Amino acid sequence: MNTNKYTHLEISVPNIQHNLKYFRSFLRESTKLLVLVKAYGYGHGIGEFSRILEDNGVDYLAVAFPGEGVAIREAGVKLPVIVLSGGMEHYPLLIQNQLEPSLPGPEAFQRFASEAYTMNRKDYPVHIKLDTGMHRLGAEEADIQSLIEILPETGSVKIASVFSHFVASGEPKNDDFTRQQIARFETLSGLLTDHLDYKPMRHLLNSPGIERFAAEAQYDMARLGIGLYGMSYVDRSRLKPTAFLKTPVLQVKTVQPGETVGYSRAGKVTRPNTRIATLAIGYADGVNRHLSNGKASFSVNGHRAPTIGNICMDMCMLDVTGIDVKPGDMVTVFGDDPTIFELADILETIPYEILTSVAYRVPRVYSF
Ligand SMILES: *Cc1c(COP(=O)(O)O)cnc(C)c1O
Repeated sequence: MNTNKYTHLEISVPNIQHNLKYFRSFLRESTKLLVLVKAYGYGHGIGEFSRILEDNGVDYLAVAFPGEGVAIREAGVKLPVIVLSGGMEHYPLLIQNQLEPSLPGPEAFQRFASEAYTMNRKDYPVHIKLDTGMHRLGAEEADIQSLIEILPETGSVKIASVFSHFVASGEPKNDDFTRQQIARFETLSGLLTDHLDYKPMRHLLNSPGIERFAAEAQYDMARLGIGLYGMSYVDRSRLKPTAFLKTPVLQVKTVQPGETVGYSRAGKVTRPNTRIATLAIGYADGVNRHLSNGKASFSVNGHRAPTIGNICMDMCMLDVTGIDVKPGDMVTVFGDDPTIFELADILETIPYEILTSVAYRVPRVYSF
């Protein structure tokens, strides 16, 4: 554990390695592993974090937008990177940075192939996304027919992989639908690959897919996202938290009944000699304002202390009455206690949103 006395998101590399090992244990040795580092690596950082993943034997990375891929290249990472939701106007930027597009249909395919041709590329790796039930992005059967027709004129690109995305692979109540997606993937991917004189990789598993469907739908690669960051859909005790949002106490005051704490007088003091600790973190850092007024409590010196008053932009206050707290003591907003799951439950959201809400201005500190 680091001893930094400023607001930061600590990333535990040993815990990343632990979680990586857990997910690898479901996969054959020959199955490649792609890690999703979209949304700033689910909050964990992008450049340096991608380098850590590269050092830990990850085979592929994926991001949502081209800028995230450029950040990975600027960090010197050589791994192949798929850009999942880049628009057509960014295709030249992708090619300049050796980033591989996910192409959801014939229009995108044709456009990318023609950009690659203009830029004198041959066999540039692209990934075809199939829609097997999400109905977000991806080629359906008719699109695949059109793709097959234009394939012969597109030597500038080569299909490195064909893939699709599960809708609800972590939810047993939707397992029939997940199996339907697997069957559709089998059919649609076959339709395409039957017309190729080479064999692209195929991949379908996301994090819960790895835990629950590795035997049925492993194919050539698996795409690990939230699982790496500590979320299991099967048994949370098997995984470790990877991100710890920490902030120092700036000041501690004693406030009496009748007084209030923070904006709008929302934090009413009722106990004599109430001790208030002010923290160097606010909603602009990713501490959701709906955690105000005791909705959440954070840990300090082995105790949990509730928020009091409204969370401010750059600060927030805790009621630390009865806890031995002084300026400079570090508070954990999330990590092992509370967990991202606890905050997600309070906010009626999913752990993904807790992790991806940590602001860019919060430095990421990697502990090894
Ligand atoms: C985000 C994403 C994943 C990872 O999903 P998790 O639920 O975090 O495992 C996998 N594949 C695609 C296409 C994605 O967009």
